[in-house]
Amino acid sequence: MNPNLPATAGIKLLHTPGPTHVPDLVRNAMSAQPFDLNDPRLAAVVENCERGLQRLLNTAHADVMMYTANGHGAWEAAIVNLLPPGGKVLVAGSGHFGETWAQAAEGCGAKAIRTAARAGSPIDPALIEAALRADNAHEIVAVFAVQTDTSTGVTSDIQQVRQAIDRAQHPALLVVDVVASLGATPFQMDAWGVNVAIGASQKALMLPPGMSFTAVDARAMNAARDNRTPRVYWDWNARKSPIGYRKFCGTPPESHLMGLEVSLGMIEREGYDAVFARHARIARAVHAAVECWGEHGALWLMVQEPSARSASITAIGVREGIDPAQIYTLARERFHVALAGGLGPHNGKVFRIGHLGSINEAMILGCLAGVEATLRLLNIPIGDGAMERAIAALNDRMPPVR
Ligand SMILES: *Cc1c(COP(=O)(O)O)cnc(C)c1O
Repeated sequence: MNPNLPATAGIKLLHTPGPTHVPDLVRNAMSAQPFDLNDPRLAAVVENCERGLQRLLNTAHADVMMYTANGHGAWEAAIVNLLPPGGKVLVAGSGHFGETWAQAAEGCGAKAIRTAARAGSPIDPALIEAALRADNAHEIVAVFAVQTDTSTGVTSDIQQVRQAIDRAQHPALLVVDVVASLGATPFQMDAWGVNVAIGASQKALMLPPGMSFTAVDARAMNAARDNRTPRVYWDWNARKSPIGYRKFCGTPPESHLMGLEVSLGMIEREGYDAVFARHARIARAVHAAVECWGEHGALWLMVQEPSARSASITAIGVREGIDPAQIYTLARERFHVALAGGLGPHNGKVFRIGHLGSINEAMILGCLAGVEATLRLLNIPIGDGAMERAIAALNDRMPPVR
């Protein structure tokens, strides 16, 4: 007997809102040997990734700059390219990720103005409009908005944010974090007037963590060119080059690119609408199960408004006295279902189910059954019949979830 072999059978179901399950096709592509830097095949992979991201973002002209960094790196890229030292940014309040993005801007020397956020509620466009109207001198350079806040699972209407900026007749650029939403829910960069979009590899794009990107339109490129904030690695204009080595400010993350080429191809093969419909259907199954579990008041959906619930992630609040760490630890160790805990102010009060990326009906039913088994083992009072309701939701025809 080999004592070093793992003593578990089957697979562990990874249901965090990043990292997510990586499909075998992607893992296999990522295991290929690297190319030499002059091999035209490498340039073709890069080009396929750029074009594929443009199509998924629905942009005809934005430049895609990819980084060997996680989403926080791409946040910093937008900050240092757009904001001059001491420059002002308006951060749309919607949850923990907007708040930490604001803190990143402050850490880089910018001034962040925040609109108020209510946990589980989407961005309020009226607050954006009011804050911009109050900025008579047009000192605010950009509005930062998160499409899906991964701490509560709320999805905001980005088109409404653009309309608020336009109503205020303010020149601020619109910079949108689509890290948790791209590939799970529709995004229209050009039609919605988004100047910069920011994404990362390990969510609905079905890759391991470690790569991110910014898509930058001509207005934002020009603003970056005129901005004097010192930067080298993150600089957009330096990366706008036909030479691969310059595009990445050094050696490209070849394995991730080979994986991204495949994952974007898988999304296109399934069809964008089919991918979004699958996410919406699976999200509804999760919502139905949580609503049923919550019948005795021990837990609840953090996003009350059904139309603002994301297709990517569901955050579940728990009654005082229930420890989310006990739930996700037992779920992982006993039932092989990996969940996430609460972030920031929700730490110790929330657990989260990720349902984005490479996920299907069998996987979500396995996940939900594992969560239910865990809740029962912990003697948490829950309603009966959650699995039946989840199955019914998977078969239901209802309007799309955002
Ligand atoms: C995960 C996430 C990030 C941060 O990405 P990292 O890769 O962890 O740095 C940023 N914004 C949103 C909305 C996210 O879900």
